[in-house]
Amino acid sequence: MSLSTHEINKLMQLIGLTKDDEIDCEQCLSLVAEFAERELAGKSIPDGLKAVAHHLTLCAECHEEYQALQRVLKDLKE
Ligand SMILES: [Zn+2]
Repeated sequence: MSLSTHEINKLMQLIGLTKDDEIDCEQCLSLVAEFAERELAGKSIPDGLKAVAHHLTLCAECHEEYQALQRVLKDLKE
């Protein structure tokens, strides 16, 4: 079987080879609005928000929140 890079990263995270700069759900949710706004605006993601992107790849709950936010932000723009 072959794994995509994304899947390999996920597996590595699952077995504990995680980065030191991990944040928890609470921190993620306090930053995710800013992250979603920047992404939508096509702005660069500062280092401080990269942990958010990382958390979103790991955490389905926060990812759902992020997707909901994106929908709201898109609606606001229209
Ligand atoms: Zn989370």
